[in-house]
Amino acid sequence: MIDIKELDQQYITGTYNRFPITITWGSNDIAYGDDGKEYIDMESGYGTNSFGFCDPDWTAAVEEQLHKVQHTSNLYYTEPCAHLAEILCKRTGMANVFFANSGGEANECALKAARRYQHLHKGPDCFEIVSMQNSFHGRSYGALSATGNPHYHEGFEPLVPGFHYAEFNNLENVDSLTSKEHTAAIILECVQGEGGINVMTKEFAEGILKICKEKDILLICDEVQAGNGRTGTFYSYEQFGLHPDIVTTAKGLGGGLPIGVCMFNEKTQNALAPGTHGTTFGGNPVACAGAISILERMDEDFLAEVQAKSSLVMEALADAPGVAKVEGLGLMIAITPANPEKKKASDIVNQCLKKGVLCITAGPNGEKVRLLPPLTITVEHLKTALAVLQEAFAN
Ligand SMILES: *Cc1c(COP(=O)(O)O)cnc(C)c1O
Repeated sequence: MIDIKELDQQYITGTYNRFPITITWGSNDIAYGDDGKEYIDMESGYGTNSFGFCDPDWTAAVEEQLHKVQHTSNLYYTEPCAHLAEILCKRTGMANVFFANSGGEANECALKAARRYQHLHKGPDCFEIVSMQNSFHGRSYGALSATGNPHYHEGFEPLVPGFHYAEFNNLENVDSLTSKEHTAAIILECVQGEGGINVMTKEFAEGILKICKEKDILLICDEVQAGNGRTGTFYSYEQFGLHPDIVTTAKGLGGGLPIGVCMFNEKTQNALAPGTHGTTFGGNPVACAGAISILERMDEDFLAEVQAKSSLVMEALADAPGVAKVEGLGLMIAITPANPEKKKASDIVNQCLKKGVLCITAGPNGEKVRLLPPLTITVEHLKTALAVLQEAFAN
């Protein structure tokens, strides 16, 4: 038999530390390894397989489109991307959208659009972007420069100029780093994903709104990880009373196919004129057909189920032995081990893997265990996974 791990390690750039399993197929919340083992998926590809592996309706929608048109250049109209744009705008109240292929690209578009908008409105000196410490916005130079974590910057300097990093949930710090003359936009995640599932406070959200209004600064919400039902509402900013001028999302939107979106409100909808931005693959009809299948089924009842499953996780782990803290929103949850000197988050993740549960770490030093199960995980499998997690934290 061909050794996939060996091939991969020889021929693929070594940017990933992979777990020692090869996933050959999956069905909703179960992944099957080539070792013949079954795993309960509590990770869903960083929250991308929002309806699990190979959801039958999603697969049918994708397959149907695949037999019609798999791609056209953006010189032509196609049906799925126009329909998806309409669904997103009607649901969020945003005015129009730009389709990209990833979260990083969606953020790249948002940063460019914010600078261009302010260039036209406040002049060429208004280009600064304030993001949060511990944030994650992607790996391309613009998105990387917005990412407020020196770990990701190391070796890649100089970054794009004009970025400042404020302490998350610290309004005074945001206030002191922003000005009417120079600040084009504030970009933030309402729940920081890679940064450790840190939830924004309501006071911070209110203060951000006030600062943006007083200083005429655009607000960009990065919903790449927290969006599309992940936190129990369609987008997480809804729970904080925010009214972003620009929203970016990706991961869970496509149900597993690459897609990214940058959405603009009435104010920013014309920031990008013809020829100012573009992408060859953006708005791919197959990816859009998959996304439509996901969004059509993400109604209030579905979101209520996400919230109910969230409560189940919180209750099972909050006072469990070996657990110091459980935090998060919806099915975006982090658990801090009580005795990291004895057992680190990564040890717990590896123990869960051996016991047939896939989960990951979060936080600047990977100090927390992160759960991002498919939103469609069955209660039965969720309970089985929670028992494995309880055991791993306790012993
Ligand atoms: C994953 C992520 C990104 C980057 O998305 P890619 O698709 O990997 O480019 C950006 N922002 C947030 C909040 C993310 O979680």
